[in-house]
Amino acid sequence: MDTIFDKIIRKEIPAEILYEDDRVIAFLDIFPVNPGHTLFVPKESCENILCTSDEALVHLFSVAKKLAPAILQSVGATDFNFNTNNGPIAGQVIMHTHFHLIPRFENDGHAMWGHQNATSEELAELGKRIRLSVDEMRASK
Ligand code: 5GP
Repeated sequence: MDTIFDKIIRKEIPAEILYEDDRVIAFLDIFPVNPGHTLFVPKESCENILCTSDEALVHLFSVAKKLAPAILQSVGATDFNFNTNNGPIAGQVIMHTHFHLIPRFENDGHAMWGHQNATSEELAELGKRIRLSVDEMRASK
C-alpha cells in the first residue's frame, strides 16, 4: 500500500526530516503529542512490524538510540516513550511500519496505560496457551 510515509520517503511531500540514510528516515510528527515527537520509519515498505525485516528493525532501533539524546536535549526532556501501533485497533492510522519517539514532561497530561488485575491462575493458564502456540508455530516451520 502506498501511504503518506512512502510519499515523504520519495520527497513527494515535505516533512521536517531529522535523519535519513538508505534504510530509515526520521521526521517530526505533524500533530505532535509533545514537542520533539519524532517518527522513525523504515524505507522498506510494509504494513507493520510483523512483515518488516529484522535487519530494518535492528537498524531503526540503532538510529533511534543515537538520535534520542539530541531530540531530548533540544526540547529539554530526559524521558520518553518509544512505541509502535500495530493495526487499527491498536491505534495505527498510517499503514507503513513506524515507531513514535515521544519526549515526556512532568505533568504533561498524557495518561499512562491502565492496568487490570490478573490472578496467578489466569496468568499460568494464559502462559501455557501461549507457550503451546509458540511450540506449534516453531513445529510448523
Ligand atoms: P499511527 O497512529 O499510525 O501510529 O501514527 C501516525 C502518525 O503520523 C500520527 O502521529 C500523525 O500525527 C502522523 N502523521 C500523519 N500524517 C502525517 C504527515 O503528513 N506528516 C507527518 N510528519 N506526520 C504525519
